[in-house]
Amino acid sequence: MKKLPLQLLATAATLTVGLSAMGSAVATEKTLAPTNSDTVVQNIEFRADLSSATVKAALQGYDVEQLSNHTGSLLGTHQTAQKLAAKGIVITKESPYGSDFSAAPEAAATPSPLPNRVKNNSYETYFGGYKTIAAYQKLATDIAAAYPEFAQYVDYGDSWQKAKGQTGHDLFALRITANAQQSSDWQNNTNHKPRFVFSGQIHAREIIGSEFVSRFTADILNGYGTDPEATALLDSTEVWVVFGSNPDGIATVEKGLKTAATTSSGDGNPAANNTAWQRKNMDTDGYTGGSSDYTSSQPGVDLNRNWLTGWGGQGTSTDPSDQSYRGKSALSEPESKQQADFFTQLFGKHPVSNSSPAPSTTQGTVLNLHSYSNLVIYPYAYDNTVIPPNIAAIKNLGFRQSFYNNFATGAAGDVIYNAAGGDIDTIYQQNGVPAYTWEIGTSSQGGFFPAFSRTEGLYNKYRGGIFYTANAAAAPYKTPAGPTVTTLTATRNGDKSVSIKATANDNAFGTNPSNSKPSAQNVTAAEYSIGTLPAAAGNGTSLSLTDGTANSTTESFNGTTAALADGKQTIFVRTKDADGNWGPAKAIFVS
Ligand SMILES: [Zn+2]
Repeated sequence: MKKLPLQLLATAATLTVGLSAMGSAVATEKTLAPTNSDTVVQNIEFRADLSSATVKAALQGYDVEQLSNHTGSLLGTHQTAQKLAAKGIVITKESPYGSDFSAAPEAAATPSPLPNRVKNNSYETYFGGYKTIAAYQKLATDIAAAYPEFAQYVDYGDSWQKAKGQTGHDLFALRITANAQQSSDWQNNTNHKPRFVFSGQIHAREIIGSEFVSRFTADILNGYGTDPEATALLDSTEVWVVFGSNPDGIATVEKGLKTAATTSSGDGNPAANNTAWQRKNMDTDGYTGGSSDYTSSQPGVDLNRNWLTGWGGQGTSTDPSDQSYRGKSALSEPESKQQADFFTQLFGKHPVSNSSPAPSTTQGTVLNLHSYSNLVIYPYAYDNTVIPPNIAAIKNLGFRQSFYNNFATGAAGDVIYNAAGGDIDTIYQQNGVPAYTWEIGTSSQGGFFPAFSRTEGLYNKYRGGIFYTANAAAAPYKTPAGPTVTTLTATRNGDKSVSIKATANDNAFGTNPSNSKPSAQNVTAAEYSIGTLPAAAGNGTSLSLTDGTANSTTESFNGTTAALADGKQTIFVRTKDADGNWGPAKAIFVS
């Protein structure tokens, strides 16, 4: 390939930021001059033919963000940009990381909500309100003690540092479900409930993930008994939360952020030599160090390049200092090996292949959180030309998620870059369960280090998609094909009957990209049932079409029950499309 000269635009730092192909929000930006310093972290934007093997080789090892077919960005210093230019990558812009963050100061942060029974406990925080990994471990044990009927603390292994006899950390999860005590023998799944696993921070510096997991935990525990959705979820499903999948790396990030600079909006803007940039675990094997640029050289194995399926393939590096170092072998790291074993304990071993797709009766869903780029990613992340045998159903659930956030949705190679050895591929391919990654946020929302005050708004905006995914655990390859009940009301009448009104939308899919969005059918039927759990699909009592004709992908239904006993009742409604697919049940209380 012909070597191209470094093309730095003189006015680059004042150009509009955001790659339009990814739909990034464009924010007001401060004008910061490009710098030649090797201590300032730069957002390096480039143009290159990303299908070229030479380009792929040049970009190997970097954590590439926000790519279209011919453009992308990554973090490094000016020296990184020079190195890439020497390899033929056309650098279109360098701007200091943080220069495209919103200039508007965020409102003062309110503390993260805690489950009510532990709300008077204090938990150590860093960077304006994020809980430390030590605090999360205390929170998890406190919740298990304060909510014995709902929660169980599970230690599933030790981190790399702990396994080496250094201080290190436990790997831990919290099991949350109604009647948890009566079913504490979770290895034998004695309550036979479907399972939803929600995890954050496998990449240590992607700090918003754990905060989302924490907020969801408080949401469902505080909502039980008052919020019909949270109540129905814990009655029907086992929720498993993992606050931090990479605790050694997270502790390293916490230390770094204590001394990191911030922008005027309060977002983190660490210098290049700050350990806040730690992405990987703290396995120092093979790492020689010696760089002042922690964004391009740091210890550790990329835990999301270390899993079994596709290990060693595209988007991974063999250099222990690289961001995407894959490790010496698949599952070489205790964090990934023990989490993979843990998933097998939760879901069993059910390998899928083209000749044996996961059965439609499969139960379970997995959602793990990364940042940033506003993406919903589904398998296979290692190679988007390898099509999972359950692809139609996997896409249905992915685009149902993005209905709530409108993130770009696809296999990793469709929306960003093929990346081999990621957890979602192994969970799907080995355990048969559909697994998803969300990349939360944009560079204008604080990038890797959003001001804590941003987290409440982002969580509230996206929580619907988390609940949808959790609720889909009962039949993840079936119900997402059916319509979503978008509004539901239930009113008690004078004769103690209850009037039900519902609206359902089979087209409740994300639309990015529109040419990949699953197709919708007309909504044709609705039914209700009364009780702690919804009746099985097709076994409820019919509601009537409000306009009498099933000729639209959005329809309204109504009906009136017989007289019901006094006191709180839970009513579930689900709806069906013209292809006969029943969607998930939505719950509502009536008093
Ligand atoms: Zn990540």
